[in-house]
Amino acid sequence: MNEGNIVCTVCPTSCLIDAKWDEKELISIDRAQCKLAWGYISDEIFDPKRVVTTTVPTETGKNPLVSVKTAEPVPKHLVLDIMDTLAVVQAKGLVNAGDVIVADVLGTGVNIIATSNSD
Ligand code: SF4
Repeated sequence: MNEGNIVCTVCPTSCLIDAKWDEKELISIDRAQCKLAWGYISDEIFDPKRVVTTTVPTETGKNPLVSVKTAEPVPKHLVLDIMDTLAVVQAKGLVNAGDVIVADVLGTGVNIIATSNSD
């Protein structure tokens, strides 16, 4: 049996959860203020994911950089590989927030999208 404290980040309350788990599943949680913590803590232990945010250079427009992010959380172990991929990407043409900058990054099925405009 493993146990530890994990902060739930589903909402700004940021409950500090006491969790117990074995090799296969979450066994119990304590000090959660709502039911949303169970799924979050289980994923955080067995399948942690993160949203990746960074900037990439632009080809045209007033702004030399646009901010980008993964459209959905991606497996945490891929975060550095995705950052390496984005380190050599340049946004083509004028960019608007929401535009896809890289489709299906590293075969995850998740797109990298712009979160700012180039102009
Ligand atoms: S347990 Fe519920 S109230 Fe607490 S941080 Fe998670 S979502 Fe928010």
